[in-house]
Amino acid sequence: MIAADYFDGRSSRRHAARLELRGDTVMVEGEFGSRSAALAAVEICTGTDRTPSTIRFADGAICEIRDSAAWTAELAGAGIGVGAVASAERHWHWALAALAGAVLIVAAIYAYALPWIARQLAPAIPQAATQAISDAVLQGLDARLLAPSKTSPQRQQEIAARVAALAGPGDRLPPHRLLFRAGPTLGANAFALPGGDVVVLDELLALARRDEDVVAVVAHELGHLRHHHGMRQLLQSAVVSFVVGVYLGDVSTVVAGLTTLLLESRYSREFELEADAYAGRLLLPTPASLEPLIDMLLRLDAAHAKSRAADRGGLFGVGDLLSSHPDTAGRVSALRAMKR
Ligand SMILES: [Zn+2]
Repeated sequence: MIAADYFDGRSSRRHAARLELRGDTVMVEGEFGSRSAALAAVEICTGTDRTPSTIRFADGAICEIRDSAAWTAELAGAGIGVGAVASAERHWHWALAALAGAVLIVAAIYAYALPWIARQLAPAIPQAATQAISDAVLQGLDARLLAPSKTSPQRQQEIAARVAALAGPGDRLPPHRLLFRAGPTLGANAFALPGGDVVVLDELLALARRDEDVVAVVAHELGHLRHHHGMRQLLQSAVVSFVVGVYLGDVSTVVAGLTTLLLESRYSREFELEADAYAGRLLLPTPASLEPLIDMLLRLDAAHAKSRAADRGGLFGVGDLLSSHPDTAGRVSALRAMKR
């Protein structure tokens, strides 16, 4: 028998009581009468230096235990651990709910709020800033991964002229500049930098069967430019790495790594579909319609599947054309649906 005070939960009156554990049942008795409840049906809270251990019944009645040590010993005798952990286990469903709530909030911020903010913000970033970022990235790429193009200036001009001709009457392409490079380690690829430079690699020209194929790929990159995907991606990743950096207490490294981040992040499926849809609208009125784009998607997928097998790892993502898309089939069928 352990001395306790019993409150019935309706009045503040204190009743002297005695407490006992019988098997899985808690018994409380005193001049108020007696009651019992299954251990699983009561909330056991371990006291601190200042607060007593308590048992809370489902109807709100509370038993305050005067001799905490004796009660703990009694519980331990019944094989029930008491302490912070045990108390947390008693409240595990609340802890779990709180955790799930926190995870949901963070996930919602990441999945909805952040992309939304980036979408509003990206077009408002001054062209000078966007261009400065693009120039820095291009310099880094030229130093590390790209080589001068072997494509003749005539062919470069022809392709540029075909791209310019994509704009229908009263329609303007996003500001852009075509740059030709060789990218031996990058394979068949093209990408758009946020400032408007669309880099086309010789390896892509080698994969293409005709100029229309190259134009189709550039049209896809123009879609990324039209929707500011590069800057949106950069903003989102920057916020994420900034938050992670603050959390880990290492912001400077994160800021220094922004370029790498820009290169290594990939466009989401949503961005790719959006760029495809834009390209689709440009290409539909052309004689070859969407076939060159569909054809190139399939050929690039096959080419990159081969190089993935040889493990070149991550192609870069800013405008990373069609680098490693598990979803080529889905994109192709979306384009086919546009034709109907
Ligand atoms: Zn893309």
